Amino acid sequence: MKIISIISQKGGSGKTTLAANLAVYASMQKLKILLIDTDPQKSLSYWWEQREEKTPALADVSIKDLEKTIKNLKKDLFDLVIVDTPPHTNETIKSVINISDLILIPVKPSPNDLRAIGNTMSLIKNQNKKFIFVINQANKQANITLSTATELSKYGEVCSSIIANRIDYVTSMISGKTVTEGSKGKSLIEIKDIFNYVKKYLC
Ligand code: ADP
Ligand code: MG
Repeated sequence: MKIISIISQKGGSGKTTLAANLAVYASMQKLKILLIDTDPQKSLSYWWEQREEKTPALADVSIKDLEKTIKNLKKDLFDLVIVDTPPHTNETIKSVINISDLILIPVKPSPNDLRAIGNTMSLIKNQNKKFIFVINQANKQANITLSTATELSKYGEVCSSIIANRIDYVTSMISGKTVTEGSKGKSLIEIKDIFNYVKKYLC
């Protein structure tokens, strides 16, 4: 069982959207997935309650209880646990980082989001954990997208697949779904590419 945590100091960077989409896509690949919602705002839990499908499973756990919950999970019950986190990376996030095999950091191509990276980095560094930036809500042709990728690469690895700014990421979640369900469009390909990119770090 491997653990991916989705972390970013910035609210609205796409943590919950990425968590849900990756989890549903991975479930569609017949992997046993547990989503854990540690955000007191419970966006992921509200989304999950709208779902008709039984997978992925979801647990609503405070950061304080996360380590104990993970320890008590039967190791063969799930292939992958995806942890969504609150929009502030204070000291408590260190315990999430500690139990993770891989950390994904969604970043929107904007000066404000880039400025917030330093805080996220200061919590990750010294913990010797693999982390990958995922550029989200991008206009792929815009100069700011390329300059964001260049700037992020100074800190660490940037996922080669970028998530575009697309309305189906928003609308699909209203009904407890994701872009990977009932869609054969570009969004599905983005999520598939990101999943394939990150899965090599989970073997
Ligand atoms: P976080 O969990 O980091 O606060 P969310 O995943 O809730 O961020 O995303 C913030 C808002 O941006 C939500 O309204 C979500 O639907 C929207 N959003 C996220 N990713 C995209 C995208 N790629 N394209 C368009 N809207 C997006
Ligand atoms: Mg969220």
